[in-house]
Formats: sequence, C-alpha cells, structure tokens
Amino acid sequence: MSRFLAPRLASLEAYVPGEQPREMQYVKLNTNESPYPPCPAVERAVSTAAVRRLNLYPDPAGSELRRALAARYGLAAENVLLGNGSDEILNFAFTAFASPEKGAACPDISYGFYPVFAALHGLPLLEVPLKEDFTLCPGDYYGLDRLIVFANPNAPTGLSIRPEQVEDILRHNPDSVVVVDEAYVDFGAESCAKLVKQYDNLVVCMTFSKSRSMAGARLGFALAQPALIADLETIRCSTNPYNINSLTLAAGAAAIGQDEYYMENCRRVAQTRAYTKEQLDRRGFVTLPSLANFLFTSCPGLDGGELYRALKARGVLVRWWDKPRLRPFVRVTIGTPEQMNVFLAALDGIREER
Ligand code: PMP
Repeated sequence: MSRFLAPRLASLEAYVPGEQPREMQYVKLNTNESPYPPCPAVERAVSTAAVRRLNLYPDPAGSELRRALAARYGLAAENVLLGNGSDEILNFAFTAFASPEKGAACPDISYGFYPVFAALHGLPLLEVPLKEDFTLCPGDYYGLDRLIVFANPNAPTGLSIRPEQVEDILRHNPDSVVVVDEAYVDFGAESCAKLVKQYDNLVVCMTFSKSRSMAGARLGFALAQPALIADLETIRCSTNPYNINSLTLAAGAAAIGQDEYYMENCRRVAQTRAYTKEQLDRRGFVTLPSLANFLFTSCPGLDGGELYRALKARGVLVRWWDKPRLRPFVRVTIGTPEQMNVFLAALDGIREER
C-alpha cells in the first residue's frame, strides 16, 4: 500500500478470482466457464472488417445488442443495460441503489464479490445466514429496507429458489431494490426475467460468461423497468460510456442470434452434471442438488483443501474456500463428459493412495 491511498480504502480486501494458470495445462474446472466454444456466427462477427473499424469508438448505447436481448426476453430495449461482465453491473447496482446509512444485504454464503463491492463503497453489509442445509429462506429477507442482492442459483452451492419465492421477497421489500444475480440460470433454474414487467424494484442480472461461452469477451446485462435501467445508465455513463468494446458488442449480437446453439449446450451441461453427481454419489461423496454448471461436493473423511491440492497435483483444477462451512467442500465446474471422467479418475487415484 502506498502512502497516497485514500484512508477509506486502506482496509479494502480485493476480490480474488479463481486461478487462471498460464504455465501449465490443467483440466480447468475452477471458474465455471463453458467447455464449449462460441458458435461460428460469433467468429464471423469478430471479422477482419470489425477489427479494421477499431479506430472508431463503439456505439455507447449498444443499441443493436440491447434490441436483440430485449426481443429474446420479451422486453423493450429500455429494459436492458449492458455491462463489462455482470460484475460491472453489480458494481453499478451497489453504487446506485445502496445508501451509506442502510447499506446492503446478501446471503452469508454467496458470490464473494458482493462484500467487496459493499466495502469498496463504504456500505454496511448485512450477511443473512443461509439455513444449515445451505437453502435460502425468503422470510429472512422480509422488510430489510436496504439493497438486497443474491445469486439464483446461488454460488458456490448451486441451490436455487423458485420465482414465487423471489416474488415473496420483492413484495416484502417494496421500497428497496432487489438484485437477482442469474449468472447460472440457463443451466436449469427458472429465470425471474418474466417478473420484470410486474415489479418496479427488481433487477435481473445475467452474463455471457457461462452459458454463452464468452467469458473472455466480458459481457453482462441487466433486465429491469426503464426507471431502474435509467439510474444504472447514469452510473455507467459517469464511469465509462464505452464500457463494451465494439468486438464484444458484435460477438454478443451474433451469439443472441444463435441462442438455440447455446441453450442446447446448457442441456448438455445439465446431462453431464447429472452423470457426474451420480458418479460422486456412488463414491460416497455428499453433493448438493445443483441447477448451475458446477457441483458443490465433499468427501467424508477428506478435507476439501486436501482434495483441492491432490486434484491440482494430478492436473485437475477445482475451487476451494478456506472458510467456515465451506471448508469441507470443493466446487467443481461441469466440463465435457471427457473432462469429468478425468476428474473422476483423479478422485479414484487419490482415494486409492490414501
Ligand atoms: N455472479 C456470479 C454469481 C458469478 O459467479 C460470477 C462469475 N464469477 C459473476 C456474477 C460475474 O461474471 P461476469 O463478470 O463474468 O459476467
């Protein structure tokens, strides 16, 4: 830390993303990327002609892509905000909708970036405990009177709640914004996008990083009523009106044009998830019923940290958190069936060795 850092940021602990190793080839099951490539239309969109136009700024309104997303979700372009990854949108939401007095609320076990955004903006954060079995109880969120953010499906558990339960939270917080982070929704949970027209306090946040195979392009979007989108737009244009580069805008529009390809990939991931869970069950692992593109699993008698290190030594990268309640588990991204068989064989090898 330099002596120039603003004192209010002195204790800020930055978000630590999963490892992105460059030195060695791992079977990479640690950051919930899609194992499938973007569709050919995306390759064509990021063409030589598009590269030759990089001397010009991108469309600051992202109009074409917003129209495409609006059509996909049965809404209007005014209901759509684009972000440089959904992380940026979450940051905008913490900036726009949380007051320094009341702050924000999120589950105690959830996406690790929420507490970082709260700290970045100097906001008090109420961390609402999940139940013993990691489920979220809507009643715990009644009348919180502050910005509410949760992931559905949740990370790293993969557990989800139904849109009726989200509505329950929305109705009991009519004067607070509720952000539903649907980064993983396409892998089997039911989206709350259809509730946007009905609730003026709902923001649904999604990403192209998982189901749409574009983590490297950095593209996320939010769906909400026009007044909320206008507030988020004010923050976006006060930060970086060109937050989405022109290659990503073109790639995103091409991807939405081929959405069936991506939704089919999601079905494949869901099948591989069921196969992997069954294989883990047979081996005596305890695995939560996930609707995301990852499984949260633990091996009785084997510490999660040990399992993480032993898998890494065998060339398989998963995610582990050295935190109470999370420590026994590892989070394993669902890759291709071949990748999951390498993971399962590595598990068998580790267990034989012990
Ligand atoms: N929300 C959740 C729950 C996530 O796990 C992630 C991925 N780390 C994100 C949002 C952010 O994804 P991105 O910025 O790539 O859209």
